[in-house]
Amino acid sequence: MRIYEPLVDSFGRVHTSLRISVTDRCNIRCFYCMPETVDFLPRAEILTYEEIARFVCIVARMGVDKLRVTGGEPLVRAELPRLIEKLTAVPGIRDIALTTNGMLLSAQASALKEAGLQRINISLDGLSEETFRRISRRKGLERVLDGIFAAQRAGFEKIRLNAVAIRGINEAEVVPLGRFARQHGMEMRFIEFMPLDAEDKWQSRQVLSGEEIREILEAEFGPLVPVECEDPSQTAVNYEFADSIGRIGFISPVTQPFCHNCNRLRITAEGKIRNCLFSTYEWDVRGLLRNGASDEEIADAVCAAIQAKKRGHGIDSNEFVKPERAMYQIGG
Ligand code: SAM
Repeated sequence: MRIYEPLVDSFGRVHTSLRISVTDRCNIRCFYCMPETVDFLPRAEILTYEEIARFVCIVARMGVDKLRVTGGEPLVRAELPRLIEKLTAVPGIRDIALTTNGMLLSAQASALKEAGLQRINISLDGLSEETFRRISRRKGLERVLDGIFAAQRAGFEKIRLNAVAIRGINEAEVVPLGRFARQHGMEMRFIEFMPLDAEDKWQSRQVLSGEEIREILEAEFGPLVPVECEDPSQTAVNYEFADSIGRIGFISPVTQPFCHNCNRLRITAEGKIRNCLFSTYEWDVRGLLRNGASDEEIADAVCAAIQAKKRGHGIDSNEFVKPERAMYQIGG
């Protein structure tokens, strides 16, 4: 019987975290992620929950212990709690998180909690309906806020709110978002805009850096206090307000890449392994799952993907090649 080795790449990085996209569909159309009109994948091409659970059982034997379910919008996929239950039952998995836009969360928060989901990140790019509409090209801020509070009531602790910060779009939202995090005891995280939009509109001058956002927040609230890094592979650099009420995180993949500590791999909704958000090559798992491949053969595909991982995403280099797929097709 095969001994499963940990997933160590050629730079010594150990991979213990898997992001699972369960759909490319979404109920809003954020311009930094999706086009306005989309041809979604046919349902038959999307991995079933049983196929995802089998893949997770295999990578768990290779040391993956942390999962994040994402999309597209994961809550548009039917019966998501059923998948969470299956993942919770996989030996070795100790942490299961979800990234959602929150639009459907108020109806599903309790069922997700009961199914074993431990943590939730909710996207919130601003607190004005106008900003919400400008970014998402849909109405819905109230529904997102309802979803956030429903998650709190359902017992989720340490809810994280994620805002993509874009110059000329939501600078004015930075202070209200910081205040909101303080008022409600949540962590607000600002993510730099990455070149993963579907319409090829990204420009480096639109990137509102973590440093710039920190200055905006400090001008309003006073100095932020760095929080000791709990996990070297974490994507965010965290700060607290001086009175310890509320926490701010900065995810700065463009101005301060964190590839050297990356421990993540991804599987797309149609079952392709990606070793990086920005990878230009994928390893097919769906074909293996549906054609009778053994666990060992699937493990070999995972190893091949990890072995081929590059040192860094290279956004900051002249050789950078933007992936053909946009964020909603990869799974953020
Ligand atoms: N629909 C869910 C949501 O909105 O959270 C999950 C999928 S979404 C692709 C995951 C995260 O990626 C969100 O926080 C979103 O804001 C972020 N994101 C999408 N496109 C991005 C981009 N071009 N640059 C930075 N972050 C992006």
